[in-house]
Amino acid sequence: MKIGVIGGGQLGRMLALAGTPLGMNFAFLDPAPDACAAALGEHLRADYGDQDHLRQLADEVDLVTFEFESVPAETVAFLSQFVPVYPSAEALRIARDRLFEKSMFRDLGIPTPAFADVLSQADLDAAVARIGLPAVLKTRTLGYDGKGQKVLRQLEDVTGAFAELGSVPLLLEGFVPFTGEVSLVTVRGRDGEVACYPLVHNTHESGILRLSVASSNHPLQALAEDYARRVLEQLDYVGVLAFEFFEVEGGLKANEIAPRVHNSGHWTIEGAECSQFENHLRAVAGLPLGSTAKVGESAMVNFIGSVPPVAAVTALEDCHLHHYGKAFKAGRKVGHATLRSADAATLQTRIAALEALIQD
Ligand code: AMP
Repeated sequence: MKIGVIGGGQLGRMLALAGTPLGMNFAFLDPAPDACAAALGEHLRADYGDQDHLRQLADEVDLVTFEFESVPAETVAFLSQFVPVYPSAEALRIARDRLFEKSMFRDLGIPTPAFADVLSQADLDAAVARIGLPAVLKTRTLGYDGKGQKVLRQLEDVTGAFAELGSVPLLLEGFVPFTGEVSLVTVRGRDGEVACYPLVHNTHESGILRLSVASSNHPLQALAEDYARRVLEQLDYVGVLAFEFFEVEGGLKANEIAPRVHNSGHWTIEGAECSQFENHLRAVAGLPLGSTAKVGESAMVNFIGSVPPVAAVTALEDCHLHHYGKAFKAGRKVGHATLRSADAATLQTRIAALEALIQD
């Protein structure tokens, strides 16, 4: 089976690493000459709106999937005429727009921060009057790794903030005084079968994920899965869908969903019986899902800007390096490592040993 992937970054690369043993081949559509997934499949180097290349991709593959959510809606609509596309155009439409996803959470009874649609500075002033400060102002689309957002703490921060974020459609959210950030990576098959990985605790630095630790018997696991199932059913979703939640006193507030494999699920490559990458491929290909159970304790440390010396990382016990083969650049995700151990205390020691190797 040949899988077409829109985007050829590290997520595409890890999909191919998981799918190759299943007998799958891959073609990646990505305009970047140095797309790092190209090492593992055919690279169609073209813009996402290039209909000639989209048609070529559709002709060559059995189905198409995505490794990022900002794919233009027209691209998805065009491809869907010729080849099955998972997840669906409708799921992508909702997930890439913060207003649509938060409205969906609200309609499904899933707690989410107070929010307001902002199309002008006047809208922003009215939204601040309603929601109060502090609040977080975000672009509705194309935001990632904390880009395209600003925390508004006092009234002076509100003045001119609409223009500061580019005078594009925005969303104002009430600031959530969370006690932690957790994510739930879920997968739904073509036949409606659902599986969920254990909740993961995430730590960010400058808006970028730095550390994910998989939990054991998290008290909010069942609640998170209940919320997730509502969304998966609503969207008739196929593939991996990741949920980011704020942990608050006694519960969860949904922040966002990502309609793809997710950075906070990378630990599953070595830390779960079947990885998020393999499960995404199983789901879109109509195969039975694999077990999402953990094997021991696991954490993932992201390498941002540069990868520490390979010899030093690989010298650590039960430490699994993933070097994406990308040029090093400040703020760029260029690799990660999964750490495993039999118990939580040893895992913390291993995380500290790995973090000591990180220069930046
Ligand atoms: P996002 O791009 O929505 O995932 O936001 C990036 C990070 O900003 C989150 O992981 C949180 O640490 C923080 N953040 C986003 N929205 C809020 C909010 N409404 N209240 C508090 N912190 C937030």
